[in-house]
Amino acid sequence: MTPVPIQNEENPFEAMLFRFDLAAERLGLDPGLYQILKVPDREITVSIPVQMDDGSLKVFTGYRVQHSIVRGPGKGGVRFALSVNLDEVRALAAWMTWKCAVVNVPFGGAKGGVVCDPAKLSMSELERLTRRYTAMIMDLIGPDRDVPAPDMNTNPRIMAWMMDTYSMHMRHAVFPIVTGKPLPLGGSHGRIQATGYGVGLTTREALYRQGLDAKACTAAVQGCGNVGSVAAESLSHLGIKIVAISDYQGGIYDPKGLDMTRVRAHLHNNHGLLEGLDEGERITNEELIELDVDVLVPAATENVITSQNAGKVKAKVIVEGANGPTTANADTILEEKGVFVVPDILANAGGVTVSYFEWVQNRLGFYWDKRDVNSRLEKIMVTSFQEVCGMADRHDVTPRIAAYMLAVERVAEVHRLRGIYA
Ligand code: NAD
Repeated sequence: MTPVPIQNEENPFEAMLFRFDLAAERLGLDPGLYQILKVPDREITVSIPVQMDDGSLKVFTGYRVQHSIVRGPGKGGVRFALSVNLDEVRALAAWMTWKCAVVNVPFGGAKGGVVCDPAKLSMSELERLTRRYTAMIMDLIGPDRDVPAPDMNTNPRIMAWMMDTYSMHMRHAVFPIVTGKPLPLGGSHGRIQATGYGVGLTTREALYRQGLDAKACTAAVQGCGNVGSVAAESLSHLGIKIVAISDYQGGIYDPKGLDMTRVRAHLHNNHGLLEGLDEGERITNEELIELDVDVLVPAATENVITSQNAGKVKAKVIVEGANGPTTANADTILEEKGVFVVPDILANAGGVTVSYFEWVQNRLGFYWDKRDVNSRLEKIMVTSFQEVCGMADRHDVTPRIAAYMLAVERVAEVHRLRGIYA
């Protein structure tokens, strides 16, 4: 089937559905199961009243969407941002269903969000907002129902408040209610690094598959937050020369290779921003995408590779650290150019995999060291990479459509076995 370009290529839910449709068609998915998986199981919108520090009351809007909980509890982060909207949360929830199925962890897909600008809230306003949001979605969440985690602008501190609020209502400490917690609250070793480390592992496998020698490769990494900074470090450990890295203001570029020790130290001391670093030349985020490199790691935000710039991408391998960095219309262009794309639902699944490890450790009350966590993570990422490539080879499709096919088939199989309760 020749994909027809989608009208609004930057709508994340349409982008998700477009790939899902292609996968469903290749699988010959039963039309009834298609209808079930196309839409979320459940979604709620909550109005969250918060007493502000000046004594006034403000009402925020929040969402929690469960796309599918057929394979296990819903899993997915909570995003605090002004741009949060229901279509975005729906798309992110569905991506979580597919991501958990690709790495075969026993979770479904969910996502949450609150429309707010956390930079404009004091610490105590943020705490009251988090606690009231948690209380208002309490009927939906639970260690066996739906397990939130951090996402954009939320962090271990916020997870601690969510865990405490839920626990106060249950009258006992409930550690597996959220993941991404601080270590003393049952957080897992290796969780913070897991997504970036997973990007490194899938890059290693992709280069091997494409017959490229990591030590002779260059890379550009967009974003130097949690995912981008660790991904850049993991790529450096593979011997790849990092020639560019960026934050939301723009990037730095040195074709001879950046001094990553200096970059890391600067980010550490400068709130994760590159501003003020005397290293390489300044470039824009748009220029970074089009650099002459072997590996491109978009690890910042959505829709950065579109039909407008995909034709100018020079990288041979793209490893998607971010969720949804490539639009569906850009997929076709990259495929025609022969670019090997490790799709987001595989490349950045290291985070949810270690979230699963955190949930398991909380339930067992038995904690693993970092070496244990990382070796289990490596096994899952490598196996999943091989399963996706196996599917791509068997069906002559891109790794992205293969990853969707693998995921949709796994979720559909559970539906078939469970049957429809009437
Ligand atoms: P973060 O907030 O720690 O870092 C984001 C980085 O991107 C920062 O360097 C920021 O300056 C930069 N950035 C923001 N907007 C940008 C823009 N418009 N253009 C260029 N750069 C921009 O976030 P993160 O946790 O590193 O997440 C990055 C991406 O990875 C998101 O798409 C997120 O959904 C996805 N992701 C994160 C995890 C995780 O475990 N943190 C897991 C899976 C997927």
